[in-house]
Amino acid sequence: MTSDAQALVQQLIRPEIQALSAYHVPPAAGMIKLDAMENPFHLPEKLRDGVAEIAHGVALNRYPDASAAQLKVALRDAMKIPADSGVMLGNGSDELIQILAMAIARPGATILAIEPGFVMYRMIATFCGLRYVGVPLKEDLSLDVEATLAAIEREKPSLVFVAYPNNPTGNLFGADDIAAIIRATPGIVVVDEAYTPFAAGKSFMPRLAEFPNLVVMRTLSKLGLAALRLGYMAGAQALINELEKLRLPYNINSLTQAIATLVLKSSSALEAQAEIIVGERTRVFHELAGLAGVTVFRSQANFLLLRVPDARASFNALKDRQILVKCLHGAHPLLDNCLRVTIGTPAENDAFLNVLSEIL
Ligand SMILES: *Cc1c(COP(=O)(O)O)cnc(C)c1O
Repeated sequence: MTSDAQALVQQLIRPEIQALSAYHVPPAAGMIKLDAMENPFHLPEKLRDGVAEIAHGVALNRYPDASAAQLKVALRDAMKIPADSGVMLGNGSDELIQILAMAIARPGATILAIEPGFVMYRMIATFCGLRYVGVPLKEDLSLDVEATLAAIEREKPSLVFVAYPNNPTGNLFGADDIAAIIRATPGIVVVDEAYTPFAAGKSFMPRLAEFPNLVVMRTLSKLGLAALRLGYMAGAQALINELEKLRLPYNINSLTQAIATLVLKSSSALEAQAEIIVGERTRVFHELAGLAGVTVFRSQANFLLLRVPDARASFNALKDRQILVKCLHGAHPLLDNCLRVTIGTPAENDAFLNVLSEIL
């Protein structure tokens, strides 16, 4: 039987899919979890009571509101989405990346992204049978504007992804440089603003009207609602109308709709937590900068990228002490011996700093 199934796989599954490894999520039970850019804080008690009440009232026997109308109103209001832009919701922004890729997937179509960047851009290009072109950052992890514009001219991508701030480097590229990329691109440019809550309000959302080919993508995951899986993107209404055709019915479940609507009406609670995280980011940055052998990079996100003498050894030693970070060694030549650490609670950050300074 097994060999029959193996033969079937060989025969049917595309070779580029067989060559992939599934997205790996390491077990984290009992660990201080600083690997996935989650907000380390619970919702305030009063909001949690509100969530409990809402969960009690949700009609679990019915399909969700297919258009998520109330949630969209709350999102437009809380996130200052321009009234004349279209909005689309995804089961995480990952799903929106996939929908964008499906929409442009035709023979020879290309996705271009900055590297090192968010890994799902490349993975989803592969899922959809698209060409993928990565443009490397400079050695200091700044945007190579000339190389990027040249690659756009050469490759004529249908879809360009720029994370603003970037993951895993944490830096925020220049707004003028991104505007130049948007103008030069014949296709759609997605400015992925997953980390905007930590970037002092830097956003392309207010500039949507300037660029017909701009899509601004966001998520509630890094802001404190990772469990709900809610991403959204805003862009020209005519474009969003087409993309909506690819959205599977009921992709945003009723609990997510109801809870996110409630929490967004009190979004100042999440913003206050983001402010604490930004303060801690500054503190952890300076502590790391003072450690011999560590290079830490400036970040506008809720994580820091650091280079250590031996990233694998540090990653394992941290893990042995129940602290889970992300080891990026081997992911890209520019990330040699790099670790990425999510900013946690003050106590979690202290634990990380103490263990790291001990093991170095
Ligand atoms: C985390 C992340 C996402 C994915 O967010 P989800 O909404 O949880 O799917 C998208 N883009 C970037 C750059 C990210 O870091």
